[in-house]
Amino acid sequence: MKQILVNLLSNAVKFTPEGGSIRLEVNGDAEHGVVDFSVQDTGIGMAPEDMKHLFEPFVQLDGSLNRAQEGTGLGLSLVYRLTEMHSGSVSVESVVGQGSCFTVSLPWQSTSLDKSSLPDPSQLKTVPEPESALVESCHPSGVILLAEDQEATIQILFDYLTTLGYQVLIARDGVEAVELSQAKHPELILMDIQMPVKSGLEAIKEIRADTDTATIPIIALTALAMSGDRERCLEAGANDYLSKPVNMKKLTAAMAALLN
Ligand code: MN
Repeated sequence: MKQILVNLLSNAVKFTPEGGSIRLEVNGDAEHGVVDFSVQDTGIGMAPEDMKHLFEPFVQLDGSLNRAQEGTGLGLSLVYRLTEMHSGSVSVESVVGQGSCFTVSLPWQSTSLDKSSLPDPSQLKTVPEPESALVESCHPSGVILLAEDQEATIQILFDYLTTLGYQVLIARDGVEAVELSQAKHPELILMDIQMPVKSGLEAIKEIRADTDTATIPIIALTALAMSGDRERCLEAGANDYLSKPVNMKKLTAAMAALLN
């Protein structure tokens, strides 16, 4: 939810000239079980033909695997994917020169309780406390190294992995990835391929060449699902490969397979 709003708000800031305004509005519709988060700006707006491919991933990316910078098209495709994962929808209204309004609609169940439906307080005492120790033991533990240069992806994966109970180390380029692997011996490495200073492929090769780190499981991540990517990653020494934006279910499954 935080990532969705950060992406929409920073997008609004980016396309709104100085002196303009940005507004976040939240409306709960209990009757239809929907909550709408609308981000409105007084920015440059978009023509209808520009809105057609707005939520498609990587529309602004070029085809080079070694490209240094991600295009701005990634933010909105992430919003779209994250909203989908929450069983919601995204819509946009825009007028050139007047501004845009992005609305994320999510399923919502009102939790406001009718007082008459509350149970007798004396009965509440008989409800046993949840076994917190049992809940704790279901969480995985361990150190994961996340090598990734793109801030939005770092945020999402960091939040997701820490929520699962992992300790997450972050490397922002290939050199840091190799250094942290050697210094911290993580249980698993998530390795972005397109990174500055040293690419993920080079970093994987170096980690594999060092006997201390040679057996650490590595999942390669790449923003462009190009043919041959998988082979290149596995050839360099990665155990598995996922394309971005990362599907959390696939990531969890891939990690579970390698950590067992
Ligand atoms: Mn990258």
